Amino acid sequence: EKASTSGRATASSAKDNASDTWSLKNFDIGKPLGRGKFGSVYLAREKKSKFIVALKVLFKSQLMKSNVEHQLRREIEIQSHLRHPHILRLYGYFHDETRVYLILEYASRGEMYKELQKQGKFTEEMSATYIAELADALNYCHSKQVIHRDIKPENLLMGLRGELKIADFGWSVHAPSSKRQTLCGTLDYLPPEMIEAKDHDANVDLWTLGILCYEFLVGKPPFETKSTQETYLRITSLKYSFPPHVSEGARDLIRRLLKLEPRHRLPLESVMAHPWIKANAKPARRYASYKNAS
Ligand code: ATP
Ligand code: MG
Repeated sequence: EKASTSGRATASSAKDNASDTWSLKNFDIGKPLGRGKFGSVYLAREKKSKFIVALKVLFKSQLMKSNVEHQLRREIEIQSHLRHPHILRLYGYFHDETRVYLILEYASRGEMYKELQKQGKFTEEMSATYIAELADALNYCHSKQVIHRDIKPENLLMGLRGELKIADFGWSVHAPSSKRQTLCGTLDYLPPEMIEAKDHDANVDLWTLGILCYEFLVGKPPFETKSTQETYLRITSLKYSFPPHVSEGARDLIRRLLKLEPRHRLPLESVMAHPWIKANAKPARRYASYKNAS
């Protein structure tokens, strides 16, 4: 099968090829890792270096039918320039007649969503560690004017040591952003200003961090209901409550993040310095993963 040349593999630890481009011929394909809307993800190994990656295969016909080529270009452009231990690396990409291939860092422990389902909820220690990792990664994104806008458990993967990796930059944008295109999927993670299609900025990711912190500790997001209409009303009136087991420290952090007014949400630096995070997050793992990131 003929693969045309395109994506440059810059500074990838996988390979320093003379031609500097990738094709399917460079990889041995292994087991499927999962399925997405536009194709599948496979475990793969670069032949020369034996470097293990996740190869995400997207069908051009489906991308075109859904009119998301533009969104994919932005995803590639943004994710390939980010370098952070808690952000999934995009090493490069290539395409052939029918498909686009993304060469991604392999997250061996898979989806955080599944882990949360399995465990029901996370301990305060695990939750605080994940929130600290997320805050650190988002702080890095925001310093590069990138807002993710779609942080949810389905888009969080886990590395070898259980460290969190933000994936799926399909909805990310360069800040600030004006009114958003279309709403799709669940409302559960959407901040009020995005639901109401107002202009929004990096503060949207702070709201989502609050939602996630709640979900980690409780097992479900705070505004979840059977109906979209009811969820909408709960979000915009900030109607939620804590089950008894959630500690006062965690409640304090969540309340400071779930503010209707975007500017009133606790900034990321203050999240990382929050007493509940300080007391509960495991710092060792956070810094260990830095050393091992290349
Ligand atoms: P959707 O938009 O419906 O979420 P998608 O097209 O974004 O789908 P992904 O979520 O990226 O597809 O991938 C589908 C699944 O494949 C993931 O849920 C995950 O289980 C697995 N997967 C994706 N990327 C990786 C990776 N880098 N390492 C390990 N598993 C992965
Ligand atoms: Mg996904």
